[in-house]
Amino acid sequence: MKILMNVYLFYDTHLPEKGWLQGCYQCDSITSRTINYKNVNYNDKTIKFIVYICNTCKKKLKTDTEKNFIFSNKCDRYISEYLKSCRPETPDPSGCFF
Ligand SMILES: [Zn+2]
Repeated sequence: MKILMNVYLFYDTHLPEKGWLQGCYQCDSITSRTINYKNVNYNDKTIKFIVYICNTCKKKLKTDTEKNFIFSNKCDRYISEYLKSCRPETPDPSGCFF
């Protein structure tokens, strides 16, 4: 069976990391809104990358293809760094967070 884990992308703020309010990954304003950016299959895990993004940025990204492109690049870069930091031999998936 596949293990499903969630990884959240957000702008680093003073807020507690486990809270439901985080900084928008695009503009750093505080938001509770998220999008499911993508699912990545990694070893026997499915990692769901969830990005905090405020309503304003979400609308902007929908209409502005250039911004959207830059934003996707930023997310993808984060994801590839993240996957690099998860060593395949690590038995406990909770051992790899930010
Ligand atoms: Zn925003």
